[in-house]
Amino acid sequence: ALAEPSNFLRQIIDHDLTSGAYQHRSNSAGQAIPSIITRFPPEPNGYLHIGHAKSICLNFGLAKDYNTQAGGARCNMRLDDTNPVKEDVEYADSILDAVKWLGFDWGTHLYHASDYFDRLYEFAEILIQNGKAYVDSQSADDIHANRGNFGQPGKNSPYRERSPADNLQLFRQMRDGKFKDGEHVLRLKIDMAHPNIVMRDPVVYRIRHTDHHRTGSKWCIYPLYDYTHCISDALENVSHSICTLEFENNRPLYDWVLNALKEVGVFKDPLPHQYEFARLNLTYTITSKRKLLQLVEENHVEGWDDPRMPTIVGIRRRGYTPESIRLFCERIGVSKADSWIDMSTLDQALRDDLEARAPRATAVLKPLKLVIQNLDANVSESCSAPRHPHHPEWGHREFNFTRELWIEADDFMKEPTKGFFRLYPPIGDQAGGRVRLRHGFVIECTGFEVDADGNVIQVNATHFPDSKSGTPGSNNYKVKGNIHWVSAAEAIPAEVRLYDHLFSDPHPDSGDKNFLEAINPNSKETITAYLEPCMKDAKPEERFQFERHGYFVADRIDSQAGKPVFNRTVGLKDSWK
Ligand code: ATP
Ligand code: MG
Ligand code: MG
Repeated sequence: ALAEPSNFLRQIIDHDLTSGAYQHRSNSAGQAIPSIITRFPPEPNGYLHIGHAKSICLNFGLAKDYNTQAGGARCNMRLDDTNPVKEDVEYADSILDAVKWLGFDWGTHLYHASDYFDRLYEFAEILIQNGKAYVDSQSADDIHANRGNFGQPGKNSPYRERSPADNLQLFRQMRDGKFKDGEHVLRLKIDMAHPNIVMRDPVVYRIRHTDHHRTGSKWCIYPLYDYTHCISDALENVSHSICTLEFENNRPLYDWVLNALKEVGVFKDPLPHQYEFARLNLTYTITSKRKLLQLVEENHVEGWDDPRMPTIVGIRRRGYTPESIRLFCERIGVSKADSWIDMSTLDQALRDDLEARAPRATAVLKPLKLVIQNLDANVSESCSAPRHPHHPEWGHREFNFTRELWIEADDFMKEPTKGFFRLYPPIGDQAGGRVRLRHGFVIECTGFEVDADGNVIQVNATHFPDSKSGTPGSNNYKVKGNIHWVSAAEAIPAEVRLYDHLFSDPHPDSGDKNFLEAINPNSKETITAYLEPCMKDAKPEERFQFERHGYFVADRIDSQAGKPVFNRTVGLKDSWK
């Protein structure tokens, strides 16, 4: 059952809709625009991760829901690409793919902050002319030192009282490439004694003689986040600008810039407002782009889409569905209090999504040979099983019961422990263990064989020919164990990757821990499993419940026609509690 979709942001939006604050808006071209506009504004400097998914589901989800109300709603997709140094088209493309894969659609509303460079520059000149910004020529170190600390005011720059005319000339020379990186910056003239350090004349433009992946060599000055973000929101008529809590201190600056531009007639009410929510912290993983990059660059994982990575491409390859991610985001909700979400919440969302819709299949992961002594090698009994227990209309899988089968090694014990109801040999006058081979026959263990080291290499049994599942005789057998199997003659050997958490520590990068030391050395185990025959045709990214094991996906990269490779997404039960 889903929780009622409610969060503090909905209350704010409901209130704003009731008050009419954003009703009947039009854009600068006079066209009507929705009452509610949100945006998702990643910086294309890395791959999106599960934390971003929370922000995507929130922003696009609100737009989707409120679009059904009078006034309408939408969510803009914005690439916040104003830093020329770390950004890349590969990242930009992967971001758009990830948002689409999650099931969201921005229609025609894809924007790039770099498209606003001209206007951002024009507004900076306006702020200079109105005495609200100045060119500072202190070194970066001096700017930093003179900013002061919490509870201790900063010092005014000796350049703070330059005239608007001088500032304008210098700023134009900055733009025209007359200075080297770091020689001057543009700062807002706010208050060097402001209790909030963010407000102490923040730097809004700096010189960077670097080409930008979209604007080429046109610019050698680039605007900074606090200046760019609020203006981008206003240019796009965003109503509710939702970001994570670490930007709470920046909100007064967001408002200052927009109000300053409102005073000089650039923008008018209603201005966008910033609201903060708690970021997603997920146990056993990290969501810092810088650290994820380090995992990739230092080959701790096999790439951005390694199924152990918390990136969207990684969790997609691991087998999580878009539906499960959206369900997860709905369940964790949105609040203003920082907290940790257990990884098992994500896993449970996948189980709850796939239980009703993943076809069932049989896979033996740790194979042990089982030989049916009373069945000739040239005989095969045809068996079948429903593709899904609740979807008879999906039909059946067909397979054969033959003399040699594969079963799980764990389904046999030489010396059974108390309560073990699967296969074990006869001891004294006590008969061997009896089980039903699912969708097949009841068998009784008659013995086993070992190799020179004493390892069990074969289990022997006899079957009861009148016990076949689905026949009247099957009711005569009451057994406690029910195990899966595949015929050795027709099993498909396949590579299966059993993944575990990438980190052994639930909080790998908290405090002063080195997250690299918390890497789980056993996070990937590659095995050859035996699959039932129809699995040969599994298509890349097809998902199955392997009975008694969990949910698996045919790897979308490594699977080939007739030769699928599987990733374990999650087990059937949470083994982490
Ligand atoms: P980094 O600081 O690691 O470079 P970022 O968090 O700044 O990354 P952006 O690309 O700027 O990444 O993020 C786009 C949006 O996603 C922002 O609005 C940001 O608040 C949100 N976001 C990023 N990480 C999380 C998270 N863990 N939980 C929720 N939202 C997040
Ligand atoms: Mg950012
Ligand atoms: Mg950040």
